[in-house]
Amino acid sequence: KQYTPDDIREMVSKEDVRFLRLMFTDLLGTAKNVEVPISQLDQLLAGKLMFDGSSIDGFVRIEESDMYLKPDLSTWMVFPWGDEHGKVARLTCSVYTSDGEKFVGDPRNNLIRVLKEMKDLGFSDFNIGPEPEFFLFELDENGNPTEKLNDKGSYFDLAPMDLAANVRRDMVLELEKMGFNVEASHHEVAPGQHEIDFEYDNAVVAADHIQTFKMVVKTVARRYGLYATFMPKPLNGVNGSGMHMNMSLFDKDGNNAFYDENGEGGLSQTAYYFLGGILKHAQALTAICNPTVNSYKRLVPGFEAPVYIAWSGANRSPMVRVPIARGKGTRLELRSVDPSANPYLAIAAILEAGLDGIRNKIEPDEPIDRNIYRMDGKELKLDHIKKLPATLHNALLDLQEDSVMEDALGSHIYQNFLDAKNMEWTAYSQNVSQWERERYLDML
Ligand code: GLN
Ligand code: MG
Ligand code: MG
Ligand code: MG
Repeated sequence: KQYTPDDIREMVSKEDVRFLRLMFTDLLGTAKNVEVPISQLDQLLAGKLMFDGSSIDGFVRIEESDMYLKPDLSTWMVFPWGDEHGKVARLTCSVYTSDGEKFVGDPRNNLIRVLKEMKDLGFSDFNIGPEPEFFLFELDENGNPTEKLNDKGSYFDLAPMDLAANVRRDMVLELEKMGFNVEASHHEVAPGQHEIDFEYDNAVVAADHIQTFKMVVKTVARRYGLYATFMPKPLNGVNGSGMHMNMSLFDKDGNNAFYDENGEGGLSQTAYYFLGGILKHAQALTAICNPTVNSYKRLVPGFEAPVYIAWSGANRSPMVRVPIARGKGTRLELRSVDPSANPYLAIAAILEAGLDGIRNKIEPDEPIDRNIYRMDGKELKLDHIKKLPATLHNALLDLQEDSVMEDALGSHIYQNFLDAKNMEWTAYSQNVSQWERERYLDML
């Protein structure tokens, strides 16, 4: 809803809101909060609320640290858990520089910029329906996460195996109170692993939702003495956590531009080009959608996560799947994304890759409807099937070569992202792990 400043003032007094949590997201995808007492409301609504941006990862240098937070009033939400200090509301903000310009290093501003490119091409909306997965671990007596899972359940199990059903139900209830339309929640394949799906929305709202979703899930988990983690592969030998992204493009008349009842498989030429763009930029895209060292331990065979750059209308193993819904529900599902991704950057990069496909009429290769995991090396070669990058390092090398992905992030974010992630890789590659000692110490 588009609220006016007066609507906000009215809701503040009606709900007795005492604090405002001003949210924005740093380069690495961490949701940042500046919490201000309600006395600052007028400053905020006037766009005059300042904060120091120099300590935020990937933002700016010390000399230019004064920045402004301008609230997007349509993001107003009251947190359902008031405490004795009064209720807290959230507003997601755009970051502005001291000169009053939209800050190019703000991932949310950047996504809005890419959406404008999409509009210039004649489309109205890019809709995203995410499927975030997470694990619940027990907290120790000091409130730190342990490696102990809270249950032994498995996919779609029913209680009493699924001990976390109550926790999850509580998460869903809190999310609903905040205006989320939760479509499904279930136990996932691995013990202690869960998924909660909420309804698709336009790209910016969906990314805002993902950030708030993580906060709510973590908050509710703590109430039960549990820690919710969105780490992509926390345990050896079981599935990791993905965040599949369902996506569709709408035209100016409100029609789903991916649907064409006369098109091959009920998909439009636009959908095929969009898919072609995603497949073409898949490698560089992976650095943004799977941005941690740990992400690549999920993208391995045997755990329902994609390994090959391919698409299918049926089989579940490829990177892109086309769910059977047609008409308004026609969509592509990108299954490589994991929840460690910065949702604003990931969505901007996916969209830019798709738009590149549309602009340059990039046709995707033929679909692979067999089980890719069972194909041998020769078959894969005959079908020209490429693999996703096997490490963060390889993905970053691909990102470094992809100018369309630079356009997707803008040079400021692109450069800072590469710098930060190359440092992360260096730190990892210099660390001697337990695995190496176990493998080599008494053998060499
Ligand atoms: N956990 C799997 C992944 O890593 C997905 C499993 C599923 O949702 N079918 O993507
Ligand atoms: Mg799912
Ligand atoms: Mg799932
Ligand atoms: Mg899925």
